[in-house]
Amino acid sequence: MTGVLARLAAIVGPQGMVAPDDAKAYATDWRKRYSGSALAVVKPASTAEVAALMKLAGAERIGVVPQGGNTGLVGGATPDSSGRQLVLNLSRMNRVRAIDPINNTMTLEAGCTLAAAQAAALAAGRLFPLSLASEGSCEIGGNLSTNAGGTGVLRYGNTRELALGLEVVLAGGGVWDGLRGLRKDNTGYDLKQLFIGAEGTLGVITAAVLKLFPLPQGQATAVVAVDSADQALQLLEHAQAQLAERLVGFELFSSLCLELVLRYYPACRAPFQQAHPHYVLIELADSRDSDAAREMMEDMLGAALEQGLIRDAALAASGAQSRGFWALRENISEAQAHEGKNIKHDVSLPVSRVAEFIRVTDAAIARAFPGVRMVCFGHMGDGNLHYNVSPPAGVEHDAFLANQAAISRIVHDSVAHFCGSISAEHGIGQSKRDELTRYKSQLELDVMRSIKAALDPQGIMNPGKVL
Ligand code: FAD
Ligand code: ZN
Repeated sequence: MTGVLARLAAIVGPQGMVAPDDAKAYATDWRKRYSGSALAVVKPASTAEVAALMKLAGAERIGVVPQGGNTGLVGGATPDSSGRQLVLNLSRMNRVRAIDPINNTMTLEAGCTLAAAQAAALAAGRLFPLSLASEGSCEIGGNLSTNAGGTGVLRYGNTRELALGLEVVLAGGGVWDGLRGLRKDNTGYDLKQLFIGAEGTLGVITAAVLKLFPLPQGQATAVVAVDSADQALQLLEHAQAQLAERLVGFELFSSLCLELVLRYYPACRAPFQQAHPHYVLIELADSRDSDAAREMMEDMLGAALEQGLIRDAALAASGAQSRGFWALRENISEAQAHEGKNIKHDVSLPVSRVAEFIRVTDAAIARAFPGVRMVCFGHMGDGNLHYNVSPPAGVEHDAFLANQAAISRIVHDSVAHFCGSISAEHGIGQSKRDELTRYKSQLELDVMRSIKAALDPQGIMNPGKVL
């Protein structure tokens, strides 16, 4: 590997080499659960530079860890501790290459932050509907590579459903130009789907063609109190029947979630005078104005109240109040972190079975670990729960974390029983690699390994992740 650093620098120039003192931040994940040591951190400025880097990595058999905004939650963008892996950070490739409002597409480089992508769409009078709490930092390449979900999936789908074309640099340095903005293209295998959700194990995504949508003219947001997750499920069916595609978000959170947010975020206001067992945040968007949207929401909630589907409802009267309601939902994760360490799961179930899953799994955990506190919330409309477990009050948090494997076993076995997935939107990375082998069939794993071997025969793409 003699002279590798000089050859890397010759490709990306001095601006593209991260100083060793600054490299540590790129080798540590967002949650600070994983930390590695990189051979170097490089920031190429063009697809040609990425191709040259991949060629060099192939010749020298250097493992390459693609990285975007480094907000991933499963350690996927963190190098190992060997000091021999190259972190290839895409952040400098952040140009908007083209916007076609009539085709309703935009072509962006992988290093565009999600917030910049949303702003570029807005400037062209269009909506790019992907939305995550990390949108100020996460990047389009990372969103594609994790097939990110977020809060608009119910209406617009996850990142996979928003991508029409990709440009990818392969392990050998070849550049695949698949930047097609077509909604119909049946010309054999759909290669882009391989790279979406691959977490950097098959190639480096350098650019993408993404779908745009008309801007909604009106919005309405409500928080609703319900007896149980079962009742929330009935409400979902009712809301979908009444609002159809206007229903954009349907987010469930428990009483304890709200309690934690109110404790750690004093600026947040409780939506009701009294506490209720569960809450649902409902978001509606329409091509008519906000008055019309609020009217539709009111009609839907009025009928739900009459049918005994809900206990109470609060409808946001302004944009500020709507943001206040969303803050209740979006601050849950951070509020739970303020409360102390906890055990996280990101699971999905068939929507029809979400409530039964919560009932059965809560009971199983309570039997095995009496007193633990379930912090359960998520994108109920997508069947996706952030099913987190906090220690019983007064129990020392680090000691509690020793139960992680046993608790995750109960949760993930229950997920399998209900025909769900152990990773709904965060991915596998390094944190769920062993779990993957337990819950996928041998045949499915074999097919995945064959694809990996075909595209990355030397095994240099993000080694140690996913498979
Ligand atoms: P990184 O963390 O840099 O990388 C993620 C993975 O993608 C790694 O395996 C990396 O190797 C690979 N990768 C990155 N860029 C490329 C590329 N150009 N080519 C090939 N591989 C690449 N996720 C959700 O799905 N929904 C949420 O609601 C959500 N909310 C979040 C809220 C917070 C506060 C935080 C911190 C995270 C949240 N996440 C959420 C997780 C995270 O933001 C997403 O996974 C996001 O898509 C990661 O993007 P990134 O640019 O930060 O990727
Ligand atoms: Zn989520």
